[in-house]
Amino acid sequence: MIQTDAIIVGAGPVGLFAVFELGLLGLRTHVIDVLDKPGGQCAEFYPEKPIYDIPGLPACTGQELTDNLMRQIRPFEPVFHFGTCAQRLEELPGSRWRLTTDDGLVFEAPAIVVAAGGGSFTPKKPPIPGIERFEGHGVDYAVRRIEALRGQRVVISGGGDSALDWTIALRDVASRVTLVHRRTEFRAAPDSVRRMMALAEQGQIDFLLGEVNSVQADGSELCGIGVRTEGGLVDLPCDRFLPFFGLTMKMGPVGEFGLALQGGRIVVDTEKFESSRRGVFAIGDINHYPGKLKLILSGFHEAALMAQQAFRYARPEERLLFQYTTTSTRLKEKLETT
Ligand code: FAD
Repeated sequence: MIQTDAIIVGAGPVGLFAVFELGLLGLRTHVIDVLDKPGGQCAEFYPEKPIYDIPGLPACTGQELTDNLMRQIRPFEPVFHFGTCAQRLEELPGSRWRLTTDDGLVFEAPAIVVAAGGGSFTPKKPPIPGIERFEGHGVDYAVRRIEALRGQRVVISGGGDSALDWTIALRDVASRVTLVHRRTEFRAAPDSVRRMMALAEQGQIDFLLGEVNSVQADGSELCGIGVRTEGGLVDLPCDRFLPFFGLTMKMGPVGEFGLALQGGRIVVDTEKFESSRRGVFAIGDINHYPGKLKLILSGFHEAALMAQQAFRYARPEERLLFQYTTTSTRLKEKLETT
């Protein structure tokens, strides 16, 4: 069980900036995200598109904003837990909360910050009959532990960044990697496509043009997949099948946290951005209040006000001092390590 000052659900831009605002007040944070990387929508939906409305940054891409936020919060040493979904929230005596994730991590803190954006990203599943029988043992929609794939015959399907990046990354881990895609055009970054093609030419991976249409079993174990190609049906023996067909967003488990909702968003006040339950805050795209604008800069402002109240819960004995980063010697020393 992990004890901390504040648990942040969501490592999107707003969750990341919450680390900064809480850190300025001396609060320690753990950040949970169901994805395997930070950045939320910025990193997942538009990593290479420029954003023009971040104050003081005339233009930066979704990935650059994420990278800068990660650099900015480094001095506060947040602890990240990627690839795990915040599942259950329970109130404990003494104004504390317990949060449990889908893979059994347990956290306790006086402040919970829900920065879950449009909700948890969930994989789009391919319409292959019987695929659900192998989910979690043979078929996975994300790579949670690379070591679990060591020495395995892996088939990856898809044409986006995840499919290409994992094809390239797993070639040294898996005994064989085959990428299956139904077209010769890819949504992935052109550089990744070039690298994948080069690896295929060198015989380090296999690339098959076609569409996966069946999963094959040996008893209860996955033993291969069937691919419809121009030349007919091809059977590909494999131990692991990783379909990467993109993600959709659903509110997911935070909708079951027992917080007042409106239109699928968490209702908050605009003084502290606290939900209907004391000590549970909601900031960024996930919250609702009159006049809400789903913009990154709104989430940043919400994080600053949330942190003030979270401090009062985490440090009830201490006085909250308002300090500028420009004039506080303590903060300057900390932040100059960035
Ligand atoms: P998100 O970025 O959605 O991040 C939330 C994170 O929480 C996700 O990583 C998710 O996996 C995680 N999560 C959710 N539930 C759970 C759970 N139960 N357990 C673990 N993790 C969970 N905004 C602007 O200000 N300017 C722009 O120019 C702009 N352009 C955009 C262009 C596009 C194409 C899109 C889609 C959005 C754009 N936006 C823009 C909106 C902006 O991206 C969002 O306002 C912003 O991402 C919200 O940040 P967030 O941190 O609240 O949520």
